[in-house]
Amino acid sequence: MSLLLSKIITIPSVVDCHVHLRIPGGEHKEDFLTGSRAALAGGISTVLAMPNTNPPLDCEEFFLYAHQKALKEGLCTIKHFVGATDSNTGISRQSNRIATQAAGLKLYINETFGSLRINDEHCIREHVRSWVGRGPVAAHAEQEWVPFLISLADQYKVHIHLCHISHESEIHAIRSAKEQGISITCEVCPHHLFLTEKDAEILGSKARVSPPINQEKDRMALWNNLAYIDCLASDHAPHTLEEKMSDQSPPGFPGLETLLPLGLLAVEQEKLSLERLMHMVSVGPRTIFTLHDPIVQESKTVIELEERGPLSAGGWNTKCDWSPFADKVVPGKILETYVGSRCMYRDGKFLVSSTEEKSTTFGNMEEEDEHTGTKRII
Ligand SMILES: [Zn+2]
Repeated sequence: MSLLLSKIITIPSVVDCHVHLRIPGGEHKEDFLTGSRAALAGGISTVLAMPNTNPPLDCEEFFLYAHQKALKEGLCTIKHFVGATDSNTGISRQSNRIATQAAGLKLYINETFGSLRINDEHCIREHVRSWVGRGPVAAHAEQEWVPFLISLADQYKVHIHLCHISHESEIHAIRSAKEQGISITCEVCPHHLFLTEKDAEILGSKARVSPPINQEKDRMALWNNLAYIDCLASDHAPHTLEEKMSDQSPPGFPGLETLLPLGLLAVEQEKLSLERLMHMVSVGPRTIFTLHDPIVQESKTVIELEERGPLSAGGWNTKCDWSPFADKVVPGKILETYVGSRCMYRDGKFLVSSTEEKSTTFGNMEEEDEHTGTKRII
């Protein structure tokens, strides 16, 4: 029997706290318009975009370039992380705009796509110690690096958010840190919950992702510890099919249009309560990333629960136009996605579908927040 007792539900302000929109430098994979269309079609009104672009967002100039371009071109709320390098420790102390406007500081400690990677312990420590931004320090840290970051969060009393955890040892370390009251939060991605090594074998080079699809024991450890996982995030990482089919398949695949439907599938399969799913895509990320702007708070997503079908039924809005979950049959249809008080997507159609249309419709209706400098539609 389905746990979904009500036919139509409304989820307030759905946030995907881990996406790659590829601007600047990866425009053939995604851009702010196509990425935000994918978000809206997937029922997501706010996305937090990663800084491993080309060039990376590791200084005020590049950060503001992406921030302002996203304000102009994006159809949903887009905020950016700033990237940590071995030469920009203390960046939030030098730039008030980064301190107040960045979603957080992103540390890439393990292998990743792009040039942002630091694995010098002293440098990581300095970044954590000196960060004064309003968002947390977010880290791509796998296995043995997780206890190290937990020790830094404890030592410096800094909030550290661990991205896309995927190993049994990681969730056990996080569970124990949380039980000790250490300021640690974490996210998990649908592909680490749903894709098995068998799926990865069938998908071949398309399944390459960082962190990789792990063993069954890791997958089960995540399902068994959902109470300790704060957010469900897509790690939307678009690459073209041609790139993914090559010998040099870059890590990652799209996820904005499959995040919420796969969450609802977990609810239907009684692996997750609807209340917990709502927490993991809304209250959890809004609290962790201090998303208190009215436009985020007022956003909402309306979902019809009784319809079901393959995820690919409506086609894809992401520029890369594919998904490893294409054939999966899921419950729920996104009826409406609101950004602030405005309905931007209804019943398969975008009510504002281009950057030009957005500026015509909302032209004079943006105001700049006097404290943060961010613009909002009013
Ligand atoms: Zn990522």
